[in-house]
Amino acid sequence: MNKSWNESVRLSLKSSNECNEYFGGNTFKDFHFPVKIPLEFAERIDKSDPLDPLMLQTLPREVKASEGFFDSPVSDEEHSPVKGLIHKYPSRVLLIASSVCAIHCQYCFRQNFDYESHDILKNWSAIEDYLFNKKEVSEVVLSGGDPLTLSDKKISKILNKIEDVGHIKTVRFHTRTAVVIPSRITQELIDMLNKTRLKVVFVFHINHANEISGEFMKNVEGLKAHTLLNQSVFLRDVNDSAQILSELSNKLFESSILPYYIHLLDKVTGAERFLVTDKKAKEIYKKIQTLLPGYLVPRMVRDEGGDSKRLVR
Ligand code: SF4
Repeated sequence: MNKSWNESVRLSLKSSNECNEYFGGNTFKDFHFPVKIPLEFAERIDKSDPLDPLMLQTLPREVKASEGFFDSPVSDEEHSPVKGLIHKYPSRVLLIASSVCAIHCQYCFRQNFDYESHDILKNWSAIEDYLFNKKEVSEVVLSGGDPLTLSDKKISKILNKIEDVGHIKTVRFHTRTAVVIPSRITQELIDMLNKTRLKVVFVFHINHANEISGEFMKNVEGLKAHTLLNQSVFLRDVNDSAQILSELSNKLFESSILPYYIHLLDKVTGAERFLVTDKKAKEIYKKIQTLLPGYLVPRMVRDEGGDSKRLVR
């Protein structure tokens, strides 16, 4: 019988000991951003390949301070008028819906974020006042952490609260959980999203075609009534090749997901090993445009906090 997503969360590899036992050897060590790998993702890693692109994203390394790298590279806090909410563009706000992720991506720019003080349900009345007063806001982005680490009941509660704000038309989910634990796309979630009056957009976070399992492709079919997009991060030794990124775009398209963004790395302390230089990224990007039709070429952007991006040309 298939595992429920809650069981998958419970069975995830959550310490270096568990990882060393699972993969063999002693490559995993505990550093400040602890390892977390769902078994579904671990099963997609080639244990015999120390450079497996999925393995490289999750393997913690000792953090050393490095020039140009910062604990909070995108200054989310400066754009947070109310705790739990980040507002950069007039038409949309981002809510820190959850402090939890199903996987710990070692390049994550929010790995030092103060989630504790940004609990949206605790701060809801201030968030609600803010949303009611900002008539120009038409879209709410649910981010985190990862909103799909919340139960369907909690998501329903958040959706109901957003629906109460008449001028909000769209809700957007930023999620990696749906990819790394595909059973998270439950029938209950699908039914709930089919019923909401809001337009629903998913922005998945997938960096390499190897992350896309048959189970994900099957389950994501349930979300086809909505807009399905993907964002990736340019990561050295993981996807810094036009061929790999083209394969990813083609694979996404098989599931009717359009490549939306490819982000240049946010320079968070400890992520130096993932850096693809602007020069190399631009060379790869140029090549991608010769390999793919325009609608499968993601926009290359640099993050500027919250939902804000700057196009890189
Ligand atoms: S899923 Fe997203 S928020 Fe969570 S660790 Fe990975 S990059 Fe960071």
